[in-house]
Amino acid sequence: MNDLVSRDLDTIWHPYTQMKTADKPIPIVKGEGVYLYTQDGTKLIDAVSSWWVNIHGHSHPYIAQKVFEQLKVLEHVIFAGFTHPQAVKLAENLLSIIPKNQAKIFYSDNGSTAVEVAIKMCLQFWSNQGQNRTKILAFKNSYHGDTFGAMAVSARSAFTKAFDALLFDVEFIDLPNKENLEELKAQISEIKSELACFIFEPLIQGAGGMLMYEAEDLDQILAHCKEEKVLTIADEVMTGFGRTGKLFASDHLLHKADLMCFSKGLTGGTMPLGITSCSQAIYDAFLSDDKLKTLFHGHSFTANPVACAASNASFDILMSPESQENLKRITKKHQSFKKEIEGHPKLRNVRQCGTIIAMDWDIEATSYFNNIRNTLYNFFLEKGIILRPLGNILYIMPPYCISDADLDYIYDQIREALTKF
Ligand SMILES: *Cc1c(COP(=O)(O)O)cnc(C)c1O
Repeated sequence: MNDLVSRDLDTIWHPYTQMKTADKPIPIVKGEGVYLYTQDGTKLIDAVSSWWVNIHGHSHPYIAQKVFEQLKVLEHVIFAGFTHPQAVKLAENLLSIIPKNQAKIFYSDNGSTAVEVAIKMCLQFWSNQGQNRTKILAFKNSYHGDTFGAMAVSARSAFTKAFDALLFDVEFIDLPNKENLEELKAQISEIKSELACFIFEPLIQGAGGMLMYEAEDLDQILAHCKEEKVLTIADEVMTGFGRTGKLFASDHLLHKADLMCFSKGLTGGTMPLGITSCSQAIYDAFLSDDKLKTLFHGHSFTANPVACAASNASFDILMSPESQENLKRITKKHQSFKKEIEGHPKLRNVRQCGTIIAMDWDIEATSYFNNIRNTLYNFFLEKGIILRPLGNILYIMPPYCISDADLDYIYDQIREALTKF
């Protein structure tokens, strides 16, 4: 067996992997643009942006340069009582492009921690004001991360089963549509005095199955939450930084959330970093001469300068006309591919939002553990494409630098898969 693979199997426990039955991991030794190169020289198209994080392609020379420069100057510094130029610049950069009601930036390490921080901010917002509001509202099928708080506000599933008894109670409601809006509003009103906050993935529920819903329906829910004084958290960990065609999914909405969570594309997929942003009102509720009203949360690597430098570099690339053009180009190509395949007898619910296109393979049960998942996964790998279906749900979520030719190649292979499986 390949040396790297056997040493891996001797020492490593992989995420979301049943180590007894999983195929051996594929050694990747190089990344460039949308391509990953295996140790034996095979070139793979990274059509899922390496778990949705990579937005500008692998080993981007500009990000690499900025990371290298930062490493030579300051690799890390404690962020309580100290600050540094990259963190300040990133806060200014981000605040210049996220909705205007966002006033402050809080740093952490990843998407789950960004969600944990947002939840803690909301719970303590109320307790700092002597109010006992501890219930949290979320959508069915939601996914907000794997740490305990983030897991609690995510849908109960096979993945959470071993921990369900320990997860705090969360009120789960249906995704909004034209028919159920009034009912959902009534549900919210009924428990409003207990509700600390409502957390949601705007426009697309990612891990829940790339489920898409309408901005105008979500807008109605957000307006209602505002009326009923329920705080709202937009989890833009997946949707942020261009994924939905606009810079943020919240840009499709009239009503803006009180808090927002970011990670994944934040550093261009280069380094782990999480951010929770909040409105002035949230921030102000923690200002006090009473030390007990402090937000007692922080991580060793909070606002790591190298991660912030990667993020500032990613910001420059994202804001370039070329990237903005790429978003439009990918959106258009996905739209016309959708038109072509949406009537296909083997597909259900072909859907698209910005740079994401998803479809359900029409077989009996929709489940992560479906066999069609492995069949499709291996078929595309053999064709040199990394597509990682969620059960029978196939989706493409490419880095924005993907060429028309590579997109066409992926579409072609999907057409072929449709004739085969
Ligand atoms: C991936 C994801 C998270 C969790 O982020 P991690 O960095 O994996 O902890 C949270 N929310 C959403 C919407 C996500 O897609």
